[in-house]
Amino acid sequence: MNERLNRLANLPLRENLQGLAPYGAPQIDVPIQLNVNENTHPLPAEVHRAIVEEVSAAAVGLNRYPDREFTELRERLAAYLGHGLAAENVWAANGSNEVLQQILQAFGGPGRSVMGFPPTYSMYPLLASGTDTTYIPGVRSADYGLSAHDAAEQVKAAAPNIVLLCSPNNPTGTALGLDVVEAVYEAGRASNTVVIVDEAYAEFAHTGTPSALSLLPGRERLIVSRTMSKAFALAGARIGYLAAAPEISDAIRLVRLPYHLSAVTQATGNAALKHIDTLLANVEAIKVQRDRIVSELTRLGFTPASSDSNFVFFGGVKNTKAIWEGLLEAGVIIRDVGIPGHLRVTAGTEAETTAFLVRLEELLTQGV
Ligand code: PMP
Repeated sequence: MNERLNRLANLPLRENLQGLAPYGAPQIDVPIQLNVNENTHPLPAEVHRAIVEEVSAAAVGLNRYPDREFTELRERLAAYLGHGLAAENVWAANGSNEVLQQILQAFGGPGRSVMGFPPTYSMYPLLASGTDTTYIPGVRSADYGLSAHDAAEQVKAAAPNIVLLCSPNNPTGTALGLDVVEAVYEAGRASNTVVIVDEAYAEFAHTGTPSALSLLPGRERLIVSRTMSKAFALAGARIGYLAAAPEISDAIRLVRLPYHLSAVTQATGNAALKHIDTLLANVEAIKVQRDRIVSELTRLGFTPASSDSNFVFFGGVKNTKAIWEGLLEAGVIIRDVGIPGHLRVTAGTEAETTAFLVRLEELLTQGV
C-alpha cells in the first residue's frame, strides 16, 4: 500500500486533493451490518416484483439514451413530498451524495466556501475538496446541539457561499428545529448564501418533527435534500433528490452530465414510488427498534443521544475499539465515527437489534 501511495504522490494530483483519504466505511461481509445506516429490511416482495417488471420493460429500450429530464420520476417524487411541490421543484441524481456534489459544482468551486457543523456527515468535507470548495467547519455546543442564535452568528461571520445543515444529523441522529434553518437562511441574506438542509433520514423523525420543506415557499436559496436510500430501502439503486425553487434545477443543469440517471435507475424509482405505502411499511418497525436501542443503552449505562433517525449515537463507551471488535467477532458491525468514547449503531430488524444488544451486554459483563 505504501508503494502505491508513493506512486500516487508522483502523479500530478490537484494540490487540494494531495494527502487526502477517500470515504471509507468498511465493507465487511458479516451477517449483521449496522454500520452505514441502511434499511436492513429486504425489499417487500410486491415492490421487488414491480421493480423487476418495470426494469424489464425499460431494458427493451436500452439502445436509446434515457429521458434526460427524468420527468416521471420527478413527478412521482413531488407527489410523494406534497407541500404543494411540482416536478419543476424536484431534481434527482445517483444518490443524494451526487445531488450534493452537483449543488457544490454549481454554487461552490475555487474561491468559494461551504460551511458545515461537525460532527456531521463525513462526506461534506470530501465533497468540498472534490469540487475545490473551501470547507469551513462551524462549531456546535458541547452536547453537539446547534442553536438558531449560534448557527446564525457563525454564518454571518463566515459569509459562506453554501451552508450544509444535516437534519436529522449524522452521526448524532438529532433533528434541528426549523428556527435554526430560518435563522441561518436570514443570516445568509447579505452573502446570498445557499442553504442546504440534508434530510436523508427525515422519514424516521418522531411524529410532529417538521421538515424544512414547509419553509421552501418564498426562499429561493433554500434546498432540501432527500434520498431513497434509507426509509425507501433502496440504497443499492442510488436515487437521491432535492426540493427547491425551479431555478435551482436550472443551475444544476449547467453542471450535470447529460443522461446522468440511467433508464434502469429511473424505472426502479418509478416502480418503487407506485408502492410507497408498502415500501415505507418497515419505517415504523425501525423506529420501534431505534427507541428500544436508546432505552436499552441507557439501562446499560451508556449515554445515547435522542434520535430522529434510523441510528443511535451513544457515548459513555470506555473502550470503543474493544467494543467494536468484540461485536465484530460476533458478526455484528457498527460504526466508530472517530469521536472518542462514542459509537454509532443502525437500528436493524428486531432480531439484528437483539443480537447487537445481547452481545454488547455480554462484552460489558466480561469487563470490556
Ligand atoms: N446525507 C446523509 C446525512 C447521509 O448519512 C447519507 C448516507 N450515509 C447521504 C446523505 C447519502 O446517501 P445517498 O447518496 O445514498 O442518498
